[in-house]
Amino acid sequence: MIYFTHEKLSEHLYRIIDFTGVCCYLVVGNKKAYLLDTCNGIGNIKEYIEKITNLPISVILTHGHLDHMGGAALFDDIYMNHDDMVVFKNHGNMTFRIQDTKKHSPVEVKEEDFIPTYKGEIKDIKDGDIFDAGDIHIQMILVKGHTPGMMCPLIQEDRMIIFGDACGVGVLLFDEYSSTVSEYKKSLLHLKEFEDKYDYIFRNHGTFESSKELLDNVIGCCTLILEGKDDHIPVKFHDIELYSCHKQNENGHGRLDGKEGNILYAQDKAQ
Ligand SMILES: [Zn+2]
Ligand SMILES: [Zn+2]
Repeated sequence: MIYFTHEKLSEHLYRIIDFTGVCCYLVVGNKKAYLLDTCNGIGNIKEYIEKITNLPISVILTHGHLDHMGGAALFDDIYMNHDDMVVFKNHGNMTFRIQDTKKHSPVEVKEEDFIPTYKGEIKDIKDGDIFDAGDIHIQMILVKGHTPGMMCPLIQEDRMIIFGDACGVGVLLFDEYSSTVSEYKKSLLHLKEFEDKYDYIFRNHGTFESSKELLDNVIGCCTLILEGKDDHIPVKFHDIELYSCHKQNENGHGRLDGKEGNILYAQDKAQ
């Protein structure tokens, strides 16, 4: 069974893709390596990335969702913004992890392949913190919205940023932990302060990459929703009733108007 594949994106950055189609990123400097998220925790991602680097590896979780923290227990130095601890604890329940992954995954997943949830210490990350891997540095930018502690890692010297689930083609503002649209818009305006520091935007799902127009388009979505001028199309995300800011195309993974950037929100977030 092949659980992982990877591709090299720059001198220091690798994308690791798990067999369900979720990816995470590996930054390899000349002193140290940082794994940005750990995918679903099915199969041994540690053994896999040890074939790419033999440097010491620390894990930075962008947020506490199960498709990002699932493999964390294979490592012993874990960082995450503590505002996401409540999300991590909720998603860390093994029954929930297995059932939810089965719902999301386009391929069959086996219960016995799951890595147990990480139970050790999680070190906090704050907005602006910089991780030093030697010849490459990672700056953490707080973009709360999708979750309360959501962070975007900026790979400074390579001028790349991981938007992750923070800003994308179908940002989910969907549960009790997600921000309102107005709070989320403030986060995006904070992210925009760094716009001249990167040339490439990467995400963890779908096409994994976006053009630089994405951020302005998602800020535009916030404005439309707050003014009550969005398309407001009812959509179901599993069993949750959400609204799509823009009409989606037939496969449901993009906008009908061909532009990139959309928000799927619960009605109580539209404020
Ligand atoms: Zn997420
Ligand atoms: Zn995700």
